[in-house]
Amino acid sequence: MNEVDSQAAGGHKSPLGESETGAALRTRPRSDCPVCGGPGQSSHRDLVDQVWGAPGRWNMARCVDRACDLRWLDPMPIAEDIGMAYRNYSTHAVRAPSPDPPGGSLFERMKRAHLARLWGYPRKQPDRLADMLSPLLVFMPQQRARLAASVAHLRAEGRGRLLDVGCGAGDTLVRLRELGWHTQGVDLDPRAVEVARTRGFRVALGSLAAQNYPLDHFSAIILSHTIEHIHEPRALIRECFRILAPGGRLAIETPNAAAWCHVLFGSRWRGLEPPRHLQIFTLGSLGRVIRDAGFDLEYLATSAKAAAFFASASMTIAAAGDRGTPTQDRWGSATAALGAVAAASEVLLLALVPDVGEELVLVGRKPVAVYEAPIPVEDAQIAPMLAPESAA
Ligand SMILES: [Zn+2]
Repeated sequence: MNEVDSQAAGGHKSPLGESETGAALRTRPRSDCPVCGGPGQSSHRDLVDQVWGAPGRWNMARCVDRACDLRWLDPMPIAEDIGMAYRNYSTHAVRAPSPDPPGGSLFERMKRAHLARLWGYPRKQPDRLADMLSPLLVFMPQQRARLAASVAHLRAEGRGRLLDVGCGAGDTLVRLRELGWHTQGVDLDPRAVEVARTRGFRVALGSLAAQNYPLDHFSAIILSHTIEHIHEPRALIRECFRILAPGGRLAIETPNAAAWCHVLFGSRWRGLEPPRHLQIFTLGSLGRVIRDAGFDLEYLATSAKAAAFFASASMTIAAAGDRGTPTQDRWGSATAALGAVAAASEVLLLALVPDVGEELVLVGRKPVAVYEAPIPVEDAQIAPMLAPESAA
């Protein structure tokens, strides 16, 4: 990242001369959809980073094929300079993980009963009252969505080697280790990797591709708010496919471009996060990338579990005004209240319109049958041709 840092220190304009943004990050035009290769049309212009203050003004394109509907930055920061967008960004702060206390409130016990019943995670002791009451969670879709996310959308069966790509300081690794997974991670942020290692995890520093993990190595891979940051998402998913064992699962969470708060807040939507979010997926575009890599699609839906966060953060960005940062919120406590209203409307709407949740959730499975393919034609033809000669 040294060459990137020296570039930024100069603060000069793009040496490629291709940026219309005036950004200190060098960019390249990206006119074709990174997922389907189709043309794009303008979606947002002159976006600024109101979350972490990275330099530049950014334009976002939208795939004209509405079955795909991907959004992406055009022009896009080049990979060599993207580190500049993460200068103030922090994934290394340790959030205290919340392991389930033994006993706990009745509601906590109901949640553990739900995880045992639906996701197969055993409890230390039976709890008949919680077992009886846990089906009531059917009336709490937000809680159910959060519980699914707490186990990374992975059932307990087949627990084995799990890789968290973009693991940050390892909060998810802690939680999943407690659930019986053998967890390890990979991340680009050296400070985050250091923190995760001090917590006892095997964590690699760098990109996934650079690790060259063995073929068929992992039982599960999770990409939680990672794929939108990656320059070549199709290559990332192909690499996940290669290193997953047959029958292994890939679980993804990422912002949804068709989200209700994107409709409500437009260019102030928190999910845009330029220039770190290079592309933002939809149900159609994410499903396509996964199927094209060879995965069987087991689950694909949107979730409103983070609607309150997206709504209040979008509201704060809107209140901060044109080039302000969220600390310059002019509306004060009204933002939190309005955010809560927006989030509540999304939860209600999601029951009627299934694609409006703030996040996409996907689980793909590497087929077992991929290794039961017939012998390639050329090999099959060699055998009978050799047979008469060896007999002669
Ligand atoms: Zn497309």
